[in-house]
Formats: sequence, C-alpha cells, structure tokens
Amino acid sequence: MLNLYDTHTRTLRPFEPLVAGRVGIYVCGATVQAPPHVGHIRSGLSFDILRRWLMALNFDVTYIRNVTDIDDKIIHNASHEDVPYWVVAMRNERAFTWAYDVLGCLPPTYEPRATGHIPEMVALMQRLIDSGYAYEVNGTVWFSVRSWKSYGSLSGQRLDDIMPSADAATLGKRDLHDFALWKAAKTDEPYWDTPWGPGRPGWHIECSAMATKYLGAEFDIHGGGIDLVFPHHENEIAQSCSAGDAYARYWLHNAWVTTSGEKMSKSLGNSLLVSEVVKRVRPIELRYYLGSAHYRSMLEFSYDALEESAVGFRRVEAFLGRATEAAGRQLVTGVRPEIFDASMNDDLGVPGAIAVVHDTVRAGNAALAEGDTTTAVAAAESVIAMLDVLGVNPYASHWSTSATADDSRDKALGVLVAGALQARSDARANKDFAAADAVRDQLAEAGVVIEDTPAGPRWTVG
Ligand SMILES: [Zn+2]
Repeated sequence: MLNLYDTHTRTLRPFEPLVAGRVGIYVCGATVQAPPHVGHIRSGLSFDILRRWLMALNFDVTYIRNVTDIDDKIIHNASHEDVPYWVVAMRNERAFTWAYDVLGCLPPTYEPRATGHIPEMVALMQRLIDSGYAYEVNGTVWFSVRSWKSYGSLSGQRLDDIMPSADAATLGKRDLHDFALWKAAKTDEPYWDTPWGPGRPGWHIECSAMATKYLGAEFDIHGGGIDLVFPHHENEIAQSCSAGDAYARYWLHNAWVTTSGEKMSKSLGNSLLVSEVVKRVRPIELRYYLGSAHYRSMLEFSYDALEESAVGFRRVEAFLGRATEAAGRQLVTGVRPEIFDASMNDDLGVPGAIAVVHDTVRAGNAALAEGDTTTAVAAAESVIAMLDVLGVNPYASHWSTSATADDSRDKALGVLVAGALQARSDARANKDFAAADAVRDQLAEAGVVIEDTPAGPRWTVG
C-alpha cells in the first residue's frame, strides 16, 4: 500500500485513487522567466519519480504540468529586450523542455500554457463573482478571502496572522488580504479582453482553471515546490473549492535545492544552469544525484557531492557491465526486491530504495567474484528494474547508449561503432596513438561522441 505525505492534513495517508486504477496529477510547472538552474528542475524530477512509481504499480497516470507563460518578470524581461512577452516565454519554455528531457523526465500527458486558457479563467471568475466570493474594482478582479472560511488550512495559518503585501492598501481591495484573480491592463502591457475590461491573469487562477479542465473538478494529486504552499496553493484551494469544485485530494510538496544552506537563487549566475552542470557530469548522473535525496528533504547542492554521487552511480553501471559480459547477452528487466517496493511505498523513500540498489550490487559483485553467474545476472536484472523506477536505467532507450540499440538502423550503427572502437583500442594497445585519434575523429565527424567510462567506452549520437 502506497502512503503519501499530504501537506493539507500534515499526515501520511494511504493513497486511494478517485477512480480505481487511474491517477490524475497536476504539477505546477515553470514560470518561464529564465532558463532553469538545478533548483528549478527538482520539482519536475521529484514528480517524475512519483509518476514512474505509480506506473510501476500499474496505475494509468494522467500527468499535467503547466507552463506559466505570462507574469510580471516575463513582461519586464521582454520590455528590456524590446520584444513581445511571448518571445521570452517561448525561449525559456524550450530551455525547460530541453532540461526536463535531458534529465529523462517523461513528457507530461499534456502541458497547458496559461495564455491558452483565458476563457476558462474568465468562466471560473464569473462563477466566483456570481456566488459572492470575488468582486471587480476598476478592471481588477479580487478574491474575497474572508468569504472563504477555511482560508489558511493548507499552510496552517490564521488569516489574521498573515501579513498583507506592502502595496495592499493602495489597490482598492475590500480587505488587505484579498488577492488578485485578474489584473487590469497597464499601459504597454499585454492584455486580453474580459467582461471586466482588458487585463491579464493573476497567476493563481490559471492553475485552478487548467487543473480542473484536464483532470476534472476533483482529482487525485496536486504537486509543486514547498514554496508554492502559500500563497499559490492556498489561493488555488480558495478559488476552486469556493466555486464548488472538490479539487485535489492529496497535496504533495518537494523541498528546495539549497546552496550554502539557502534557497538557490538566480544571483548565483549561470554556473548552476542545467545546461552548464551537464557539461561537468553526464545527465544521468545529475538525475541520479538530484533524485537521490528524499523529495521532502532539502538538497544541499555542491559539485563535490555531485561528483561523489556520480562515482557511486558508476559503480552500479560497472557492475551491470560486468554482469552483461558474464551473461553473454543483453540484460532484461528483472524482479524488484520487496524491500525496495516497501521503501518506495513509504512516501517515495528513494534514499532507502537506493540503499537496496547498492546492497544488490554488492551481492551481485560477490556472486561474480565466486563465479556464480546465475545469481549475479539475477541481481543485475533486479538492479535494472529498480533503476527503471528511478528513471536512471542506463540501458533505457532515453539515455541512447549502444546497449539500447533496438531498431535495425541503431543495430547497424552499433556494430559499426563497436568495430571502430575495437580498432581504436587495438591501436592504443600498439601505442599507435595517431591511429587511435584518427578513429575517434572520424566517429566525431559522424556525430558519434565517445566517452571512456569504468565500464568501457560508451557512445552516444549527438
Ligand atoms: Zn500553479
């Protein structure tokens, strides 16, 4: 039985889907102001592991992750560059998509953009105005928080203890705590026409509108970073539940990536951009590192820790390489140990699950040393099954290694590259380094990148 920690009840709860065999998940995705650093990507990665685990438990998962493609910062950045907001939004959306993809996150079932859902937001706001939970002042639509009695239940705060924002008094709200569902257009800003005049979304409303559009008025799991609990998710609940939607049954939140004990910020410059970090380690190693902490624990990022983690992962790969050699065939997916499943069922206990991976590798290596191939291969295939759940099976087609060649074209390429690599290693053995380099250069010209790993040379096309 899967238990998940629900932020709303502050308890570990047995997961019971709304509809047997199916799970609907909505995860707040990127606000595409800038390309992602490793802190931005942790949420997508944590929920990718949740999704893979639910799939391993045979659930049919619908996974929605939105793109917030309009906000103050996007508009600000676009005006600095003297381009429309959507130029900045699209560029950064592509950077996020690339980062999710390079780290092996499965693409969402659907990935809605905020600006594509204005009619849905207008309809929801109309329902809220009609039922007295929202009101309009000079083209801005406000949510009346005092009208929603359980406001604060998610974040565990009483309304009177919540400090209103600094500029609250100047905006014509009825209560300083009221928040904007819709913002009246300012000069030179993008806008959409509504019954209340031109304006743009106020962030929170988009997620209520999109989650219910794709998953229904009630759905299983809502996820996001811990920093979204208040006000974003508190406001989503207020909007949707006051409108009569049951909304999310479980609320899951991942912790931050920190540097020097603080939330990772943009002021760190570009060195922690995903696109930069994957120049230092392979993407699969970065994924293994970022995914190895429990999703609700802070992850203190450092290159030392990343490198140490990568070394640990290479030990797993090296074992798989040796086991493949001993088996004399490609490994297939084996059976996961029960203790691995028990760990994953305990609120996605990835650290415990990874400990089981390493224990199995140790046992497999011992079996190899004793010449017990059957036990070693069974251990390796069990390791592959576990790595699949974590999204770090090096033989999975996503990581496009030679071991995964599965169509005839790839197979033909695999044979040719293997031949070239053999020629290269023969040349090296003969100390004919010019010939060895010539082979490498020829492969590089064909777009084949060679990387020497403890398990032998690995190649990718890219
Ligand atoms: Zn959201």
